[in-house]
Amino acid sequence: MTHLVFMYHGLDPHDGRYDALSDAEKSYVLSRETFAAHLDALEQAGRHCMGADEVWGKEAVGETLLTFDDGWKSDYDVAFPLLRAKGVSAIFFITTDWVGTPGYVTWEQLREMADAGMGIGSHGKTHRFLSTLTPLEQRLELADSRKVLEEKLGREIRALSLPGGRSNADTLATARDCGYKTVFTSSPGLPVALGGLWMVGRIAMRPNWTAEKMRVFLDDPQRTLRRMYATALVKRLAEKTLGAKRYDAVHRIFWRWKKR
Ligand SMILES: [Zn+2]
Repeated sequence: MTHLVFMYHGLDPHDGRYDALSDAEKSYVLSRETFAAHLDALEQAGRHCMGADEVWGKEAVGETLLTFDDGWKSDYDVAFPLLRAKGVSAIFFITTDWVGTPGYVTWEQLREMADAGMGIGSHGKTHRFLSTLTPLEQRLELADSRKVLEEKLGREIRALSLPGGRSNADTLATARDCGYKTVFTSSPGLPVALGGLWMVGRIAMRPNWTAEKMRVFLDDPQRTLRRMYATALVKRLAEKTLGAKRYDAVHRIFWRWKKR
């Protein structure tokens, strides 16, 4: 079976909590119903979403994995109950400075999720993009967030998801030195062993991933993935050629143009 790792962010239970977000932020929020339908579609396709223990046992990732970035409040009050009802697990990547602030999960909620078998990983301390930081600043982001998660949750933290999906030449070695075993990116790609750890690509879930789109995708993932890998490659090349700052500017213009 094709290896699939999905990247979610907030899930909207229609209580107005996401109303104040910018359009860019909203472009990563799915409705509660859509996520529930995704879980149904995965089950119908015979896909078992790996539990955190199974994943860490293999030091890499298995066949199907659900991940959530940032530590939104909906991780606890929307995703967690739906996952539990299905008896499946997911990994939640937490930006540690955001824990307990309005709109985000609390340490108590994270402990409850971890105790129920959910995986917890780091998404940095402040969510600053690592690509914009010096090696020392990157080390502080990655070491501090891992340390506070381990202290608060009483378990080893082995996975990191890159804020904004951004990294530079120092990031992998820094993550490895800080004790991470797996680094999750934000663009699709097969897991690769690199520099002493695993780099794992993910498929970004956006509101246009309706229940129907998920069903069609799961019917023949390879067909869509081939196109996604090609797009991700072009994006990486553009970023390399333009430099991260200029690439961001071009990307913003492109999205404004596409939305018209
Ligand atoms: Zn993030």
